Amino acid sequence: MKIELPKSVQEILDKFDKAGYEIYVVGGAVRDLLMGKITNDWDFTTNATPEEILKVVPGGLYNNEFGTVFTPNPDESDKPHEITTFRSEEGYEDFRHPTKIVWGKKLGDDLSRRDFTVNAMAFQSERVKESKSVSKKTSTLTLSSSYTLIDPFNGQKDIESKLIRAVGDPDMRFNEDALRMMRAVRIAAELGFLIEENTFEAIKKNAPLINKIAKERVKEELFKLIASPNPYDGMLLFRNSGLMQEILPELEKCFGVEQKSPGRHHIYDVGTHLLMALKFCKSDDTVTRFATLIHDIGKPQTYRKLENGTITFYNHEMVSTKIAESIADRLRFSKKEKDKFIVLVRWHQFTVDEHQTDSAIRRVLRNVGLENMDDMLALRVADRLGGGARETSWRLEEFKARLVEVQKQPFSIKDLKINGNDVMKELKLKPGPGVGKILSDLFEKVVNKEIENNKSTLIKKVKEIEKLSE
Ligand code: ATP
Ligand code: MG
Repeated sequence: MKIELPKSVQEILDKFDKAGYEIYVVGGAVRDLLMGKITNDWDFTTNATPEEILKVVPGGLYNNEFGTVFTPNPDESDKPHEITTFRSEEGYEDFRHPTKIVWGKKLGDDLSRRDFTVNAMAFQSERVKESKSVSKKTSTLTLSSSYTLIDPFNGQKDIESKLIRAVGDPDMRFNEDALRMMRAVRIAAELGFLIEENTFEAIKKNAPLINKIAKERVKEELFKLIASPNPYDGMLLFRNSGLMQEILPELEKCFGVEQKSPGRHHIYDVGTHLLMALKFCKSDDTVTRFATLIHDIGKPQTYRKLENGTITFYNHEMVSTKIAESIADRLRFSKKEKDKFIVLVRWHQFTVDEHQTDSAIRRVLRNVGLENMDDMLALRVADRLGGGARETSWRLEEFKARLVEVQKQPFSIKDLKINGNDVMKELKLKPGPGVGKILSDLFEKVVNKEIENNKSTLIKKVKEIEKLSE
C-alpha cells in the first residue's frame, strides 16, 4: 500500500524501529487515511513502556495514567502526536473507568480493546533497504517505506459498507464504557455512516447507562454531533438510539406536539421543526446550532388549543429560555457558551416590522449584542426554512438593511457622551450659540473617527479648543 505520511510521523516510526521496538499508527488516523481524508490527529501504539518511549523521544511529555507520551506535531497543527504503550484493560465496574490498566504484550490486545472496527486498525511501516551508490567514493543507504494494514476485525470492509460496528460483543462493550454509545452516534454522523444492527440494538438496550458518564464528556460528544456535516441525520440517529431521551428529554417531548392551525402554515410538529431548523442552520458556531436545535423547546409546556382550533404557544420563548438554562447547567457549558445560548433563545422572536422605529431596532441590537447578531439572523433564517417558509421575506431583508443603517449612523449630537452643560462647565461659558458650535465640532470629529466618543476624550478635546481660542 502506497501512503504518504507527514515527515514527523515517519520520523517517529523510524526512531522506534531503529531502537528495536514495534510501532504502529493506530485508531482514527488509520481510518481517515483509508477514507482518503486529511488527518492531523496521529496516535501511535508500541510495545515500548512509557519510560522506554521517553528514551526514544526525549522531548516527549508524559503526564497521565494511561501510558501516553505526547510529542509536538510540527506539521501545520498544534495537536501533539500521542504515543501509547499497548494496553489491555481489565474490569470496568462503573461503566466508564477500567479498574486496572495492564500493558499489553501484543498489538492484538491493544486493538481488541478499541471501540469500533473502523477504529481498530493499525499501520505498520516496512522498510526496504536499498544500497545506492551516489558516487564512486561514497555510498548512502536510502530507506523507502511501504505499509502493511493490520485489520483483525474487518474494519476496512465496514468502511466500505459505511458501518459503525462494535469490536466484540456490543452489549458487553457498552456496559464496560457507556460513552462508546455516544461515540458511535457521533462518529457515524461525522462520517455519514450508519450503525450496524446489533450494535444499534445494544445502544437502544443500554441507553440509560449514559447517565453514569461525566456530563463534560457527554457534552463534548454532543457538541461534535451537532457540529458534524449532517447534524439532521445525526439527530435522527441520536433520537432513534434512545440517547436523546436520556440526554435531552425536553427535546424528545417536542415530537408529536402539533402546531398546525387553521390559516397558518406550520407543516411540522415541534420536534421535527427543531431538527429541520438545525438542518438549515448556516452558522458554523456549535452554540448557535445548538440554540437553533432547541429554540422552541418550551412549546410543549405552553401549548393551548383555542375553541376555533387555533394552537398558541404564548410566552414560549421565556419557557424555552428557562429550559435552555437548565440544559446549559446540566451539560456544564462554559459561562461564555451559556450566555450566548441563552441570548439566542431568549430573543429569537424579535419583531421584524416595517413600521419599527430606529430605537426599536437599536433595542434588538442591544439585547442580542452586535457580536451575536449574525448568528441570531442565522437562527432566524433556519427557523423560517425549518418551518417550510422561504429563506427570507422582504420584511426580514428590510430589517437587515436597517440594522446596518442604524449602526452606520448610530448617533446625533444627543448621543455624544458630553452635553452642553459639560461644555459650559469646563469652559465657564454662558449658554449661547458658542456651546452648540463646540458640540457640533466634536460630533463631526467623532463621526469622522478622529476621536472616540467617550467622556474623558471629549473633555480633553474641549480643553484643547479652549487653548486654541486663547
Ligand atoms: P476523532 O479524533 O475524530 O474524534 P478518533 O477515532 O481518533 O476520532 P479519539 O477520541 O481521538 O477518536 O480516540 C482515538 C482512538 O482511541 C479511537 O480511534 C479508538 O480506537 C480509541 N478509543 C477512544 N475512545 C475509546 C473508548 N471509549 N473505548 C475504546 N476505544 C476508544
Ligand atoms: Mg483522534
